[in-house]
Amino acid sequence: MKLEKIRAVEERLLLPTYERSAVLFVGGEGVHLIDENGDRYLDLLSGIGVNALGYGHPAIEEAIARQSRALIHTSNLFFHEGQAELAVRLTGRTGLDRVFFANTGTEAWEGALKLARAHAGLLRNEGKPIGTRFLALEQSFHGRTFGSVSTTWKAKYREPFGPVVPGVDFVRFNDVADLRAKFSGEVCAILVEPIQGEGGIRPLTKEFFAEARTLATSTGALLIADEIQSGMGRTGKWCAYQHYGILPDVTTLAKPLAGGIPLGAVVCTEDAARAIHAGMHGTTFGGGPLACAVAIAVIDAIEKQNLLAHATEVGDYFQHQLRQLAASHEAIVDVRGRGLMLAAELDSAELAKLTVSEMLKRRIVINCTSDMVLRFLPPFLIECPHVDRAIDALNEILTEHAAAAGATQPAAQTQEV
Ligand SMILES: *Cc1c(COP(=O)(O)O)cnc(C)c1O
Repeated sequence: MKLEKIRAVEERLLLPTYERSAVLFVGGEGVHLIDENGDRYLDLLSGIGVNALGYGHPAIEEAIARQSRALIHTSNLFFHEGQAELAVRLTGRTGLDRVFFANTGTEAWEGALKLARAHAGLLRNEGKPIGTRFLALEQSFHGRTFGSVSTTWKAKYREPFGPVVPGVDFVRFNDVADLRAKFSGEVCAILVEPIQGEGGIRPLTKEFFAEARTLATSTGALLIADEIQSGMGRTGKWCAYQHYGILPDVTTLAKPLAGGIPLGAVVCTEDAARAIHAGMHGTTFGGGPLACAVAIAVIDAIEKQNLLAHATEVGDYFQHQLRQLAASHEAIVDVRGRGLMLAAELDSAELAKLTVSEMLKRRIVINCTSDMVLRFLPPFLIECPHVDRAIDALNEILTEHAAAAGATQPAAQTQEV
């Protein structure tokens, strides 16, 4: 089926949850996607931060082929070879002790929330009074299932489905005084994204993150870091919290974890894990042999190809070039992020939308989050010349827009290389 036909059928048969861009991708190679006409697109979004190793990576293809011939699914009632091997890798790289495997980000997040409630119950049984409330942050995003939307800030994700899970308070982002004011013995966990993703690529300040750690420790509440978007090397370290030198009690991983095969993980301390015993929590598909084999291959490829250092290097270059661009375009009001998790905030939602579609016309895939924030989550394999191509295209689009809007600033000269 070609695009127009597919679009017509989808309009009739699917729940209208997405407004898709009018492009039909049928393949990919490296950091490029290929559409039905064979046209190549530079991908700076990676399927929303999932395709860390791009497209057609031999290590992923080999793992899928090998494991699909051997065993795809067993259920969690039996052993298979993948979970232990993957757990060794994840605990080593996160600095935490134990893993629960799930399928998606939101399922991992639900597991983390349940763990926090169970852990608080354990503390109460041990004679330590602690409540059941969660502190989440404004602009947070943790997923679409009930616990996850309940801890997600934007009303549009929560309110149509109310009542959502009770017991959640939102703290103003990076506002230490508000955090102190809202924290109490009633709180069982503080929930953060070290760098907020959907909320607009906003890093926590060191002061705020450290205060969250101190407060949680003072009562036995858990500090839970959602690294579903920022984790697995995107920021140049395995987890973004490692840039802060702060260890949470629990972290959640998903998006890039198995290079495009669905897989999520909750990773936690030995102390938090005391709250869970056999039969309390589970999943049919989570941590299956196929997903685990691919995740092992992804982690090994990231190390073999030295992609943490690469993400840091190309990410720094990308951020520098975005700052140069911002210096000559008033429409860019801020540039943020770390490694290959970057954003350029524009001064209007309309311009942000236009920029995404103009980039797509130039065969470059980006997206826009929080209305005005251009988001860049490229595959870890991206090179500086790809960045240059994107910066040139952004410069062209913003220059044309400024000219059309009758602005007086001259066409900007942004390229140094
Ligand atoms: C995407 C995302 C989720 C939800 O993951 P799904 O796999 O879509 O359920 C949760 N938290 C963060 C930070 C995310 O970026």
